[in-house]
Amino acid sequence: MNVHEYQGKEILRKYGVATPRGVACFSVDEAVAAAEQLGGSVWVVKAQIHAGGRGKGGGVKVATSMEQVREYADAILGMQLVTHQTGPEGKEVKRLYIEEGADIADELYIGALVDRETQQVVLMCSSEGGMDIETVAEETPEKILKIFVDPDTGLDRAEAENVCQQIGIPSEAVAEGADFLAGLYEAFVKSDASLAEINPLVITGDNRVIALDAKFNIDSNALFRQPEIVEYRDLDEEDANEIEASQWGLSYISLDGNIGCLVNGAGLAMATMDIIKLYGGEPANFLDVGGGADKEQVTEAFKIMLGNDNVQGILVNIFGGIMRCDTIAEGIVAAAQEVGLNVPLVVRLEGTNVQQGRKILDDSDVKLQTATTMADAAAKITAAVSA
Ligand code: GDP
Ligand code: MN
Repeated sequence: MNVHEYQGKEILRKYGVATPRGVACFSVDEAVAAAEQLGGSVWVVKAQIHAGGRGKGGGVKVATSMEQVREYADAILGMQLVTHQTGPEGKEVKRLYIEEGADIADELYIGALVDRETQQVVLMCSSEGGMDIETVAEETPEKILKIFVDPDTGLDRAEAENVCQQIGIPSEAVAEGADFLAGLYEAFVKSDASLAEINPLVITGDNRVIALDAKFNIDSNALFRQPEIVEYRDLDEEDANEIEASQWGLSYISLDGNIGCLVNGAGLAMATMDIIKLYGGEPANFLDVGGGADKEQVTEAFKIMLGNDNVQGILVNIFGGIMRCDTIAEGIVAAAQEVGLNVPLVVRLEGTNVQQGRKILDDSDVKLQTATTMADAAAKITAAVSA
């Protein structure tokens, strides 16, 4: 689950990581009131969407008067903000964050993530803040220093101070930099984050170390023990189909292609997407109906796929184990009757109750092609959507 920048900063503050003061707002008047409340003479008006690269897209503006705060808030709120992470259609800005301006002497980068190989949290630290870290990793990988943190002993203080020095934190601020890393590590672990990225971390003119941006991604599997973070969930930022699917207990992820896939089991779902691609097709989604789906869930899964305008064909690939083929067949028939099946459908059923399943489909008036092997199924559906 992603959270907004201002929420990420709330998490950071809880663990003693310094951030500018700020107020989240939902209207232009609130934004002006927030700037007045913050005081000072420089404010930053920041779009709150779940995507990075807002600055380049015009979603971050520095204001030096109340008139400018109003002007920028008015321009940004409601805009369709396009960044390299939103796709060309962009995202509508519904929230703003008004922050006190910072006196920036230097912009650095700190990211925390889980390194699967060492099974440790790794802190990626770089002097190259404020820019795309993927570009730094590609062009000047030597400018990214890594600190691996042993979960038993925690962050090594001497190592943290050494890295702070190497990424250009002035010596007066090195101790504060090491505190920053320790706080970020604690925030990461305690909030069950899978990613925490501070880009930029800034050194101010008076040598303070503060997080100017905060991007947190929280491991969804840990949300059951993170009630405060669940409160941060912003459904406006999430894919409507994915929300609908999760309410029905379906694992669904939207993709860019045109072939809807309904599969049981994550492994078979991955293999199905692979073979669609091998045959030149593009999956419109990942959908695992799981082992115990009932007729209603299968019907709902069909409705979600058919509600996606990009879907030009559907491939059902079921290996009946705990999941029974007749249940899937009933779901297909029910969904076709309820919502009307207006795209080609290819069905491959194998396993438990396959005969009953096939009979249900044969006896119905649902128009479909049956397939024997995975390859047969992929060939048929790719041919059907390109016809
Ligand atoms: P992103 O573009 O989505 O990553 O948004 P950021 O929060 O990183 O802001 C983009 C850029 O705006 C930063 O890299 C800074 O250069 C600039 N910026 C953000 N806050 C301030 C501020 O308080 N003062 C100044 N002068 N610039 C800021
Ligand atoms: Mn940033």
